[in-house]
Amino acid sequence: MQEKGTISIHTENIFPIIKKFLYSDHEIFLRELVSNAVDATQKIKRLASLGQYSGTLGDLQVEVAFDKEAKTITVSDNGLGMTAEEIKKYINQIAFSGATEFVEKFKDAKDANEIIGRFGLGFYSAFMVADEVEIQTLSYQDGAEPARWVCDGSTEFEITEGNRTARGTTIILHVNADGEEFLEKHRLEEILNKYCKFLPVPIKFGMRTERDEDGEDEEGKPKYTDFEVDNIINNTNPIWTKAPADLTDADYLDFYKELYPFSEDPLFWIHLNVDYPFNLTGVLYFPKVKNDFEITKNKIKLFSRQVFITDEVKDIVPEFLMLLHGVIDSPDIPLNVSRSFLQADGNVKKINSYITKKVADKLAELFKADRKGFEEKWGDIGLFVKYGMVSEDKFYDKAKDFALITNTKNEFYTLPEYAEKVKTLQTNKDGSVVYLYTNDPAKQDTFIQSANKKDYDVMLMNSPIDNHFVALLEQKLEKTVIKRVDADVIDKLINKGDAPEHVLTEEQTKKVKEIFEKAITKPNMKVEIESLSPDELPVTVTMDEFMRRMKDMAAMGGGMSFYGTLPDNYKVSINGNHKLISRIVNDENTEEQTALAKQAFDLALLSQGLLTGAELTEFVNRSVSLI
Ligand code: ADP
Ligand code: MG
Repeated sequence: MQEKGTISIHTENIFPIIKKFLYSDHEIFLRELVSNAVDATQKIKRLASLGQYSGTLGDLQVEVAFDKEAKTITVSDNGLGMTAEEIKKYINQIAFSGATEFVEKFKDAKDANEIIGRFGLGFYSAFMVADEVEIQTLSYQDGAEPARWVCDGSTEFEITEGNRTARGTTIILHVNADGEEFLEKHRLEEILNKYCKFLPVPIKFGMRTERDEDGEDEEGKPKYTDFEVDNIINNTNPIWTKAPADLTDADYLDFYKELYPFSEDPLFWIHLNVDYPFNLTGVLYFPKVKNDFEITKNKIKLFSRQVFITDEVKDIVPEFLMLLHGVIDSPDIPLNVSRSFLQADGNVKKINSYITKKVADKLAELFKADRKGFEEKWGDIGLFVKYGMVSEDKFYDKAKDFALITNTKNEFYTLPEYAEKVKTLQTNKDGSVVYLYTNDPAKQDTFIQSANKKDYDVMLMNSPIDNHFVALLEQKLEKTVIKRVDADVIDKLINKGDAPEHVLTEEQTKKVKEIFEKAITKPNMKVEIESLSPDELPVTVTMDEFMRRMKDMAAMGGGMSFYGTLPDNYKVSINGNHKLISRIVNDENTEEQTALAKQAFDLALLSQGLLTGAELTEFVNRSVSLI
């Protein structure tokens, strides 16, 4: 038997195209060949179970071996094998709908996956790293003859009698100069570890050493006898393929360690398992996070039938859940997944909302089962929850019943509980409820104490997401406004319309304003005389809530860059009802008047950490002389 022919594609030569455009991800050739080998073993198993194969199955397995000297990589399986006819059908007639379409499409292809996936070029990816590819195969079928196929990367191929004596297929790559990195043990191990770690049949890996006595075949190429490769590199039964009922907490924790060897234990996990309207299994872990965004994304691994595809799951997993760790396996996502595919695929959107729902359900369940434990974990999960509520309306609707608000006294409230707690005391004169919050309790202590004196509550909003979370709550909650505790003097923050009568006359008020405007040399300070309770501070410096929020957003890159360009404008509230102010206005000595005004103003700055440098020194010197 000897046959020569031309691979039936309509463009002159597909290989230069593959090589050129698949430049970046050469390593995936191994994933493609190993997954073909695994498929072949799964197919023979299935044939046997259907009664269409009655021979012995043996230990189904795949062997990957390399020979640095001979520059070969060999992928061998004991799967169903191919007849010469099948080689012609499956290998020669490349499964794509037409050269014209191919040429048209590859122009826009962003990555190798896109080309390989769209045009069924898995096997041909071998030519990214090999000058010559050889297939030795023996079909499971009764009376099948061993066949050999060889191709040097042109469109010419050759089929001859093969040398396999046992059922299965061996693919031999004669590695080219560009592919030499793939003849390194550690590099191959790295690739196998990345893509093949959880394949369902044992993958053995090793170096091929034994040769025939003469060491060469008739063409002078190295020829090998069977070799011993017995280092199994994969876990064939990862936990996501098992039923949750058969697993213990220790199993989940061990698997987490297997995935992320150096991480702390996760807080909890969710086992995903759907078969309608799409197939999906997986385990998602909630990691311990610090209260910031220093978290590494791209920790979730995407598999298709246990073959690793990617850890860029951006379009499959909702953005806010990218902070989770774990695995997702879906046969509905093709092996050669590409970004454009994911964006267009309807299943992917369904997967997305399924995962969102599962995560919300799990959190609701934890909250219900153990509120105290949930509160203890809030420091770690609060970030996910708030991020989720801000970014997905559907998640907000589920999370609004278990999301927690913490206050400066370290108490936890759900949103409805909090509304109930503050509504009596913190309703202002036009009937809206005012929520107060601090993002820095130490710095805003004076203001928090003023609020506490009136039995007002102050929420703690000091994580990076809280800017957005506050804005979201304000938009979602009816008749509720939210203000940072230092956005104004307390009587103005929650204005109940019960301000005391002004003790200053109109003329005195004018005079106080003049005195302070003269005393304050710091720019962007706007003096206002207000009628506050006599026990409030004489002078308070505040920045308007709206202005500050816009500036915060601009600083975070929230598209409010105009506000970022404005100076920090402050309001200086003078408490016209305070004893000190009466004393200043009645002071005959103008020098002393100015000094006292300066002093009161500096004290206000000092309490907010706004007094620094030369101004601080001047304050200290003035204080000494006043004493
Ligand atoms: P795909 O795997 O998407 O079908 P490939 O280009 O990877 O595309 O493989 C083409 C076909 O060649 C396979 O569908 C299979 O029929 C055949 N094939 C490839 N490798 C093997 C193998 N190791 N054993 C048996 N058949 C194989
Ligand atoms: Mg394939």
